[in-house]
Amino acid sequence: MAILTFLGTRGEIKEKTENHFYHSSLLIQLSQPYPFRLLLDYGRIHAYDLSLLQPDALLITHAHPDHYLWTLQKADSAVPVYLTQETMEYGSFTPCNPQIFVPYQQFSVGPCQIMSYRVLHSIRCPAVGFKITLPDYQVLAYNPDLVDIIVKEHILPGVDYYIGDGSTVKTNLVRRKGEMLFGHTRISTQINWCKKYGIQNIIFTHLGQDTIAHENNFPELYPECVLAYDQMKITI
Ligand SMILES: [Zn+2]
Ligand SMILES: [Zn+2]
Repeated sequence: MAILTFLGTRGEIKEKTENHFYHSSLLIQLSQPYPFRLLLDYGRIHAYDLSLLQPDALLITHAHPDHYLWTLQKADSAVPVYLTQETMEYGSFTPCNPQIFVPYQQFSVGPCQIMSYRVLHSIRCPAVGFKITLPDYQVLAYNPDLVDIIVKEHILPGVDYYIGDGSTVKTNLVRRKGEMLFGHTRISTQINWCKKYGIQNIIFTHLGQDTIAHENNFPELYPECVLAYDQMKITI
């Protein structure tokens, strides 16, 4: 059993609401027989200091400051911070206990099996998503910021919980520079990926202005998925 707590659900936007105040961050708490606290992303505007949260490990998707505090600020914490080499090099500061991973290589963090995968999102801050297998073999895919997953056919099969980028419902936020795409894909596109690969549980975090504007009629638009809000808890 695991408890997912969406500590923050706001993208890098000026707008904020009571339900979407803190930058996107997800805490996975595992209970007996494998107690462990795994934190995913930890940005500039966060609900709790790491000394209060006391995660056993922190995984970082990319170096944008709404996901990675050290891009702009120093933070002294002995928590192991798992990140790519390029994320560490982009930041103005470095975590005290960095753990470098290479995309597509599997690694263990406590009782969890992790595989990071490339997502298209930013040219300057290359991003990854995480496929996380819990000790009870439930599988999560976490990609809060993306235009696309590079090899969906290898990543999405077998996923039980898809936690995706809630930046936009209808507005096109995909940008192009030469051959490179960056920005955010729509919620509806991600739902179609999940349907194609038979993913039953679909949750969006990292809400943007467009999604917040549609929040009240969202359950009618997309009854098959959930918009997370700050402090939302799900037991899985
Ligand atoms: Zn972001
Ligand atoms: Zn980003």
